[in-house]
Amino acid sequence: MNNLLTVEAKAQQEVIAQPRQTRKSLDYQQISLYKDVNPLDWEDWHWQIKHRIRTREELAQIIKLTPEEEAGLKKASGMLSLAITPYWATLIDPEDPNCPLRRQAVPVNTEFVVSPHEMVDPCAEDRDSPAPHLVHRYPDRVLLLATDHCAMYCRHCTRRRLVGEHASEETDSPGRFDAAIEYIKANRKIRDVLISGGDPLTLEDEQLESLIQKIRAISHVEFLRIGTRVPVTLPQRITENLVTMLKKYSPIWMSIHFNHPKEITKRCKIACDMLSDAGIPLGSQSVLLKGINDRPYVMRKLVQELLQIRVRPYYIYQCDPVKGTQHFRTPVAVGINIMEKLRGHTSGYAVPTYVIDGPGGGGKIPVGPNYILSQAKGKYVLRNYKGKIYTYLE
Ligand SMILES: *Cc1c(COP(=O)(O)O)cnc(C)c1O
Repeated sequence: MNNLLTVEAKAQQEVIAQPRQTRKSLDYQQISLYKDVNPLDWEDWHWQIKHRIRTREELAQIIKLTPEEEAGLKKASGMLSLAITPYWATLIDPEDPNCPLRRQAVPVNTEFVVSPHEMVDPCAEDRDSPAPHLVHRYPDRVLLLATDHCAMYCRHCTRRRLVGEHASEETDSPGRFDAAIEYIKANRKIRDVLISGGDPLTLEDEQLESLIQKIRAISHVEFLRIGTRVPVTLPQRITENLVTMLKKYSPIWMSIHFNHPKEITKRCKIACDMLSDAGIPLGSQSVLLKGINDRPYVMRKLVQELLQIRVRPYYIYQCDPVKGTQHFRTPVAVGINIMEKLRGHTSGYAVPTYVIDGPGGGGKIPVGPNYILSQAKGKYVLRNYKGKIYTYLE
């Protein structure tokens, strides 16, 4: 016990360094590839989707590719698709191969290395699927995978087995969720439906509304949420129309995938403000990624800036052991140390829960620093965030 205290107390005393100054993101008109784009086109999410970077040749016009990236791009065809929105491309540092936005979007050769313990479907979602596109793991809530498309394909994607532009023919068939809807209808215990994917906000407003309507029509569903990365990768998608539509189906909550403070741009803030102003509570989900957000000061900056745009940090995920993600994974101790540096040191609202999704289908399991030093009859010995010891008598 004393040992534990010393290690953790020492950890917390470590000086939190200041963030390295990163290059400011450029206005898109300063980038030669986009300098002639009409601002109305730039703000049109369909234009952004249509003009995504899909090939090595297009990407080479924006950044100076490293040999690792060249090799990754060569192999990427046929595996997880490459797609980078022009908006995201303007945030990438073309000179820095370690740019956090670049590493999340550009494949490297190590993505094709399969390491021990890595799996195709680490969370065993396919096994817990009672109907197509549905995952039912917890008693009172389900996960509905509404599409396999995203605005951008993150290189650390946990659902890379499903996601991409391999254009599954049935993508748009209106009846594809019938069995899932029937299942939810027949299970009165289901009070919470999480619509995710892929990214459900890549669907057209009408498609999304028709799905939401069907779920809302089920009387025992109390609450609906959407998991998305669009406010970060394609903020232009958050339109007045979309927000007005979502507002009709309140309460809808939204979990947004944010990984790095550089993702919180003025444009992203506008999108988040529109959602918040429409009464949609926003949470963030981050994946702990080596070299991207695995330093306490980076994560602290992220969670504090999220509060400023009215996004409540919800989860930090240990990077799932999905095939080809070894280069992103950190030891669990790195995540625990980040939690140690957050709790007590910043606003409680800024502190998310660090979880490991139990491989094989265990669900989200919280992990973090230990604050109970010993427990006996009627007595708890605790330590606080500074390592000071307190006894609580029952
Ligand atoms: C994450 C997840 C949920 C939602 O979990 P919460 O902790 O309630 O946010 C539901 N079902 C599955 C399969 C999930 O992976």
